[in-house]
Amino acid sequence: MRSGRLIVHTGTMFGGKSKALVAIVRNQRIKTQQFIPQQDTRDRRHAIVTHDGEAFDALRILRSEEIFTNLEEDTEVVVVDEIHMLDAGTPAALRQLVDRYGVDVYAAGLATDFLGKPFKIMMRTMAYANEVHFHASYCRKCGAEAVYNQRIVDDPRRIVPGGDGVYEPRCRICFELGGRDSERTDT
Ligand SMILES: [Zn+2]
Repeated sequence: MRSGRLIVHTGTMFGGKSKALVAIVRNQRIKTQQFIPQQDTRDRRHAIVTHDGEAFDALRILRSEEIFTNLEEDTEVVVVDEIHMLDAGTPAALRQLVDRYGVDVYAAGLATDFLGKPFKIMMRTMAYANEVHFHASYCRKCGAEAVYNQRIVDDPRRIVPGGDGVYEPRCRICFELGGRDSERTDT
């Protein structure tokens, strides 16, 4: 039995991560299953939706175990979007899919949160990956390469679903913490 491969797409919002997943699903000729966290209410149910409106069907899950309970026998490719919103067991679950089930996994998620802190789920998933693709977007203020997600609504929660109108990409100079704790740790 062969092992699979783990391919990670990360970076800021609006950088084309979900679009990369849409292209992968469209180009697969083998059995592919798609999953997305339940919390993402960015758009329609049962779909991974990119910021320019392209979409494909995905099963909404609350926890990474649900990938295994819903995995069909002939599935060779698993696509999971927004993995930074899933549980802490997600990196191990994705690794198991690749190592034990021989499935190719394409996973996408944000590298850092609205305070500029790395998502540990992403860090661990990237450490297990065969390939990591960073998707850059451009700062809405000055047009330089963006590396942070600026939250433009006032909400203290780490995960606030939404796209345009809630977040915008910012470069290192234009990123503002809005008076919040600026300590950047890997939580
Ligand atoms: Zn800027």
